[in-house]
This record gives sequence, C-alpha cells and structure tokens, in this order.
Amino acid sequence: MVEPLVRLPDGTIKQVNPLTGTKVWTLPGRAARPFGLPSHHPLPLDPDDHDRHCAFCWGRMLETTPEIARVIHDGDGWRDLRGVLAEALDQTVPEFRLIPNLFEILSYDYWHLSHGFEPTAASQAHRTAYLGTPQGREHVTTLARIRMRARAAAGADAEPLAEEDLSREAVGLFAGNHQVVIARRHYVDDATDDTQLAGSGTLTPEEHRAFTELTIRAMRDLYRDNECARYVAVFQNWLSASGASFDHLHKQIVAIDELGAQKEREIERLRTEPDMYARWGSRYAAEQGLVVASTEHAVAFAGVGHRYPALVVHVSDGEGCPWELSDEQVRDFSDLVHACHAATGVHVPSNEEWHHRPPSVDQPMPLRAVLKWRISTLAGFEGGTKIYVNTIDPWTVRERAVTRLRELAEAGLVSSGITVG
Ligand SMILES: [Zn+2]
Repeated sequence: MVEPLVRLPDGTIKQVNPLTGTKVWTLPGRAARPFGLPSHHPLPLDPDDHDRHCAFCWGRMLETTPEIARVIHDGDGWRDLRGVLAEALDQTVPEFRLIPNLFEILSYDYWHLSHGFEPTAASQAHRTAYLGTPQGREHVTTLARIRMRARAAAGADAEPLAEEDLSREAVGLFAGNHQVVIARRHYVDDATDDTQLAGSGTLTPEEHRAFTELTIRAMRDLYRDNECARYVAVFQNWLSASGASFDHLHKQIVAIDELGAQKEREIERLRTEPDMYARWGSRYAAEQGLVVASTEHAVAFAGVGHRYPALVVHVSDGEGCPWELSDEQVRDFSDLVHACHAATGVHVPSNEEWHHRPPSVDQPMPLRAVLKWRISTLAGFEGGTKIYVNTIDPWTVRERAVTRLRELAEAGLVSSGITVG
C-alpha cells in the first residue's frame, strides 16, 4: 500500500487515491488562478424570459419528454405526483421533475435487443394514457421527429408522422433507462442578472433533501424495472465546462449493464478489507486533518487522489443500498452534499458523482458522493503519464470549504445539524 499523501522537501504534494490508485501531483509555484467568479459580465434578466430561459425551464415543459414523476410542495408537505398528462402539466408547480432523457446513453433498443428488456405494465399504461389526449399525442409526435432527425431516419418530416414511427419512438421514450431530475429554478427567485444561477447550494437544505430523495427513488425503480441493470450511475454536471447542456440544475440517472472495472476491483478488495471505505474515507481524512464537516450519520472531507480538487461525502453508519437507508441517514448525506455545493459556490463548474451499493452486491458499501471542481483542463502531460496535476492540494480545498461553510452556517444557509470543521 502506497502512502496516499506525501509532501516532498520542495513543497510538491503527491497524492495516490487509496481506492482507485489515481495519481495526482500538486506542484509549488503553479498557484491556482482565481476561480469561483462569474464567467462573464452580468447581463440583466428580461422579465419576458421568466421561466423560459432554457428547455429545462418550467415555461417550456413540452420541450422535455413526458414526465415520469414530479415532487410538489403544498400544505400537505412534499409529495410525488406520477404520470401527469400533457394537459395537466401547468396545474401544479413541480419543485422537481423526473423525466426520461431524450437522447439516452444506452437506448431502449440496446436493452431490448441485447437483454430482452420489455417496458413494465406501468410504463405501458402511462404511454397509452399520455398518447390518449390530443396534447399528449402532439407532444410525443414532436419528440419522435426530433429523435428520428437526430439519427437521420427516413420519414422524420412526414406529414402526418407514420403511426408505426410514432409507436416505435414512444416505446423508447416511455421505457427509457436514462432519466433526468430537474429542479424548478433556473435563477434564484430574486435574481436580477444572468449570473445569479440557482445551483444545488442555493436550494434550501429541505429542498435539497427532496431532490436527493427523488433521485434515490428513481434509482431504486430503475433497478426494480430492469433486471439486467447491474449498476445505476447517478451524476450531476454543473455548468458547461463540466459537460452540462444547460445552466439549469439537474441530475442524471443512468442504468448500465456492467459494474465497471473500478467497482469490481473495490468489491474484490472488500472481501479482505471490509472496512475499506471507512478506513480510507473518514478515518484517513481525520488523521490528515481533511474533515470539512460532519452530521450524525455522514461526514464530508477533502478528497485525496482525484483528477480535480474534490469534496467527498460518505454516509458513515449505513452500508445498504441507498433506498434502504433511514430517513435520517439520507437527510444527513443530503445536508452535507448541499453544504459542499454551497461552500463551492455556483460559479465553479463541477461534477457530482454518486457511488453506492447495487442490489446484486452483498458487500457493505456506503452511499458516497464526490464533488469535483472542474477548474482546470487536462492536457497532454496527463494523457501521456496518467499523472494529474492539480493546482490546489487537499488541505487548501478543506481550508477554503471550511472558511466559506462557517459563514454560511452563521447566516443559516446550511442545515443546523452540521458541525463545521
Ligand atoms: Zn432553465
């Protein structure tokens, strides 16, 4: 076992990720450029664009796919509405919507032809009901044309669209194994200019829990409805530098038919080192002075050996599948992920990646999230050596996050259940 964190006499810091083996060097003299500032000069928002800034905005719901579920918040608290029809999209205000991705990473045909996957009865009933109304039919027809045009399929512009084309595209659309959770706001409620984006960290802790819980339910349902889903990847790309299509908060949930080489290695290692995640997670972070914040059931710390500066959140006392965790464990996880985003700020492009125990694995694997700050661009040196150069070492990441988090806690903008530092 290589020491994960070594400081050399000249100040160079060499990191080796204790789980993945990724090598990262932080070199003295290659100071970080300022980051976390708006990418452009602020432009005033046009009130006419309200709720119509991008295709994920609520004023443009017919530009996204037929909704699977939405979370609404009213006098009765937070609850799900499922299978809302096209005519009813504006009858309630969703705080979060769950929709199929229009262009999946793995298509319906991939699952159907390689694995014999068939839509569930519930998904078929939803499709029939949705296509049974005039607006629903028009909505799906428009989306079918977009999908067909994207792969240059003949007949995409036929008037009317052939019935067989509509049905084929609809089957794929309603039985997608790649889903998106979209938050309500594009900009914060009192925004006056276009730099005041609404990110994970500008949600309230309570809203962020609803976001996390809907994501976990969607993940559970993808496993349940597709027995060939070996893993369900959850991630969030924030801002275009991180791969996001829109500057509008959303998470992606993607079923895949493999665990991937890294997960397989970790599961193998767990057999001889069952406390691996705690040992190289919160315990190592505490030994090295990297803990950022903690709650009763989770801990956040600066990560070691990530390609980009990273904050990591681990559930510290639950090792089952995410939907088997208690409400308190999910709340504590969510509160720390929220706090890490709030401390990072909305102008830092980031990837949030979840890791969890899939149902097919019988080893203890806690729910974890890694929040990577995409503030540098990988170049030829990294490609050629597989050694990644970071401008910020984990202690500096921790210091920056803790300093900001103390201010946020003081202002009551993060959960009161959090202990900072
Ligand atoms: Zn938007």
